[in-house]
Amino acid sequence: MSVLVVGSLALDSIETPFGSVHDAIGGSATYISVAASYFVNPIRIVGVVGGDFPSSAITFLEERKVDIDGLQVIKDGKTFRWSGRYRYDLNERDTLSTDLNVFEKFDPEIPEKYRKTRCVCLGNIDPVLQLKVLDQMDNPRLVVCDTMNYWIDRKKADLQKTLKRINILILNDSEARLLSQEPNLIKAGRVIRSMGPRVVIIKKGEHGALLLTDQMTFSAPAYPMENIFDPTGAGDSFAGGFVGWLARTDDTSEENLKRAVIYGSTLASFCVEKFSVDGLKDLTYLRIQDRFREFRELSRFEDL
Ligand code: AMP
Repeated sequence: MSVLVVGSLALDSIETPFGSVHDAIGGSATYISVAASYFVNPIRIVGVVGGDFPSSAITFLEERKVDIDGLQVIKDGKTFRWSGRYRYDLNERDTLSTDLNVFEKFDPEIPEKYRKTRCVCLGNIDPVLQLKVLDQMDNPRLVVCDTMNYWIDRKKADLQKTLKRINILILNDSEARLLSQEPNLIKAGRVIRSMGPRVVIIKKGEHGALLLTDQMTFSAPAYPMENIFDPTGAGDSFAGGFVGWLARTDDTSEENLKRAVIYGSTLASFCVEKFSVDGLKDLTYLRIQDRFREFRELSRFEDL
């Protein structure tokens, strides 16, 4: 199954206790596409950048066999910029600035040849734009959606409209609490599922992820890492690995959703090992599978 990815393409400035980068390649659509590209080809990307988006980033997407025909380039505009700082506890991040720039007037235009794509991954962008994308699609089979506190705070009503039209929502623990107004994550998942999506995935940073459906609660561990350089993009890489696996296998059974969560966690673990998208460069399907298998050992134990 091919995958259409819509989201931000960004230049990120990031500070972590281990270093900093300025105007590094980022954005939700970038991370999702690159992570998913290890599972299915081509990934189709729809987004917008300014004339300042480096050609090396475009080349990198092309090398990963990402179809960029749906990428709008506004020559005299500036690319979306985000800057953030992580504290010693890398689970905590402060957004220092969000400059929408060319995103402010972005009107996603889905090219005719993309409209029948069966799997859609809506990266973290304005939920009004997420809805516009769905309006142009011809009956997709699987719609996976990501969001973040920025949109829950500012556009909750629009987000709720989006939620009615998706199958799977991925968000992190604090976002789940914010959206549901419920501190307990199991209950929060139930409240969010009542808003529309059949499946909710709640990411808990270095504590793993919860997969919640009406039939089951699956708790996936996170890969224990000694060297985390930059958590930026971990959530999007998770979404890319997750959706990539589902698209590759064309199977949304509960057992396969669990595998997809582990593939998502695997891609997230590679992402955080380096700054920006560097951790997702030069992976191979075999390396990904090796780490996937290591996950199985993490919480396997024998009964007496
Ligand atoms: P993650 O660490 O996976 O939650 O996502 C990080 C990426 O999200 C960064 O590369 C940012 O460029 C992008 N980002 C941050 N804020 C926003 C926003 N309000 N809308 C769209 N993308 C964003």
